[in-house]
Amino acid sequence: MSPTRARVARLALRPTIGIDIGGTKVAAGVVDVDGQVIDRARRETPSKSKSAQVVEDTIADIVAELAGRHHVLAVGIGAAGFVDGTQSSVLFAPHLAWRNEPLRDAVRKRVGLPVVVDNDANAAAWAECRFGAAQGESHVVCVTLGTGIGGALVLDGVLHRGRFGVAGEFGHMVVVPGGHRCECGNRGCWEQYASGNALVREARELVVNGSPVGHRIAEACGGDYRRITGPMISDLAREGDPAAVELLEEVGHWLGTGLANLAAALDPGLFVIGGGVSDVGELMLAPATASLRRSLTGRGFRPEAGVVRAALGNEAGLIGAADLARRERLRRRDRAKLVTTRLLLPRRLNNQNSTRVNDNPEHASGTALTPGPSTRRLNGGRRRAGDIV
Ligand SMILES: [Zn+2]
Repeated sequence: MSPTRARVARLALRPTIGIDIGGTKVAAGVVDVDGQVIDRARRETPSKSKSAQVVEDTIADIVAELAGRHHVLAVGIGAAGFVDGTQSSVLFAPHLAWRNEPLRDAVRKRVGLPVVVDNDANAAAWAECRFGAAQGESHVVCVTLGTGIGGALVLDGVLHRGRFGVAGEFGHMVVVPGGHRCECGNRGCWEQYASGNALVREARELVVNGSPVGHRIAEACGGDYRRITGPMISDLAREGDPAAVELLEEVGHWLGTGLANLAAALDPGLFVIGGGVSDVGELMLAPATASLRRSLTGRGFRPEAGVVRAALGNEAGLIGAADLARRERLRRRDRAKLVTTRLLLPRRLNNQNSTRVNDNPEHASGTALTPGPSTRRLNGGRRRAGDIV
């Protein structure tokens, strides 16, 4: 091995810090080359009323804590909000005071480490493709069911951020023209029917209308519909309450309807469903899969995409952000072109059904999972999407 290659190989083994900035907490972790979180730290998210500077202080503080304990290579930040196409600025964040915030450079100056910034859903999707439920799959659509619906796309092994960095906002596709009013101003958006908020709204309606089938839900919330939460309905469904099961079936039905639209547009091999509502598993995924089949364009005459639950839970965002930071860092270091940026996939998956504008991975738009040999510690030597070579 040449000295340059050996140096890059050593660098590639150093852990990176991933930070997930959510509405209520800032979760950070030190993540190794296999996607394992080896150390953690967390802080409260500063309130929206605080200046952008306060959020940067929080990030700098959490990086200082973790970098004091580990020799890290870089920092990746996943933020809820719109991140620009150059992954340097947060254009808008619903929970924070960021408006056109040049986060990457601001944090880099504060912490003295290379920094990358991405949308939290992109980071989580990347983690699922590299280390989670979508390993080995080249065309993946990730859908995160929280209060709304978030999403991200990995197509042909490449994380697609869109021309302006804001792709994957599936929650605002219209599935019911003239339907429920959405926060975005439109009516009938998907997230009004297939999110945690939709589940809670429907459950409240049952209780408010005094429906006899909703008696256990009414009991659980003590008769006060405002105390109904998503986890409350999920728990009741697991206990077998027919009304709660039906509510989840309805959310699952709408989930599948939207997935069929996405399948028509994007033809993925796999849908990965994450977020709090997906914790109920088959109670929602089975009706979603059935509904996807019923609505799928050309059903019966085409292969169907699988629907699976996300595997990495609420750490997916920080794991993905850390891995994206590693890749960007190594890409920049690699003057000798030793590190490519294409996903490692079985050959038949990687080159099937696609025509590349340019086969040189250096020119691929977006971050790609990379083919190449690598020693694997944790998955029995099996190659994995995105191995760095
Ligand atoms: Zn909307």
